[in-house]
Amino acid sequence: MSDEQIYPWLQDQWDKLIAQRAQGRLPHALLLSGAPGVGKAAFANALAHLLLCHEPLDGKPCGQCRSCELIASGHHPDRLYLHPEEAGKAIRVDQVREVTTVLHSTAQQGGYRVMIMEPAEAMNVSSANALLKTLEEPGQDTLLILVCHQLGQLMPTIRSRCQRIDFRPPGTEEGERWLASKLELTAEDASRLLAIAQGAPLAAVELNGGELLELRRTFLTGLADLLRDRVSPITLAEKLHKSELIHLLDWWLSLLNDIARLQSGAADAAISNVDMSKMLAAVAKRADKVRIFALVDRVQEERKSLMLRHNPNRQLLVEKLLFDWRALIR
Ligand SMILES: [Zn+2]
Repeated sequence: MSDEQIYPWLQDQWDKLIAQRAQGRLPHALLLSGAPGVGKAAFANALAHLLLCHEPLDGKPCGQCRSCELIASGHHPDRLYLHPEEAGKAIRVDQVREVTTVLHSTAQQGGYRVMIMEPAEAMNVSSANALLKTLEEPGQDTLLILVCHQLGQLMPTIRSRCQRIDFRPPGTEEGERWLASKLELTAEDASRLLAIAQGAPLAAVELNGGELLELRRTFLTGLADLLRDRVSPITLAEKLHKSELIHLLDWWLSLLNDIARLQSGAADAAISNVDMSKMLAAVAKRADKVRIFALVDRVQEERKSLMLRHNPNRQLLVEKLLFDWRALIR
């Protein structure tokens, strides 16, 4: 959770922010926006640490002061985290109130107070409203860092009150080189893994862990079998609905993007899911464009409701989408 570093492909964003700070123009709220797995959270942690350190040296925390010690221990009273209590759930209004109350009191260690919220799009309407007041009047030496993977799902009133920094994955070559060296992979394996992770190096590292790759395999094989009538949507949904649905929905979106790309007719359309190129080509050939985009919308809608609805019926959610997927080529 507290990975704290500036990945090489984010150095520019970091340098700009540090320059801004040197000029005394650091805003009260930052919105770090970009796909999962590009290093936003590590960036937020590094920034929090730098601001909380009492005697930074050359733009780096000293590692010696009381504040640095507290951070090393994992509990700094002026560094506050706001996450959903359960992965994939909403950030509740009482969680927001608890944190903003602390933010409005005096800093325990003197100096900055930093709140890191991730993912910011997990706020429901009441949580977002509760945060608005603090965004408008944050108080002295307070920084709110909102980490957001899906900018479109964040309320515009929240967005407009933050300075936004966009995070992009590294260029393909840089990403592959980094990944190959990090995981000690061949260039070819690194390239394949990075493509599946849509270019996000940390997502690729997580995928390489094993279980997720296995889940992805089960999911994709299931989708292919569904198209060939080897399995029914109900049976497949039964098998899948207890897994981490957010991953499933993200992979699904990635597949649909690939299909849309293939349909756009670009001769050398680069797809992410290289290992599924056969299935993707078959769907691209037979499916109607309008239906592809309609399914993209539905998957996005379900992704959102999965987070914000109280108790979604997961089996039904997956089942409905699987029926739609099968219907693409009928
Ligand atoms: Zn320090």
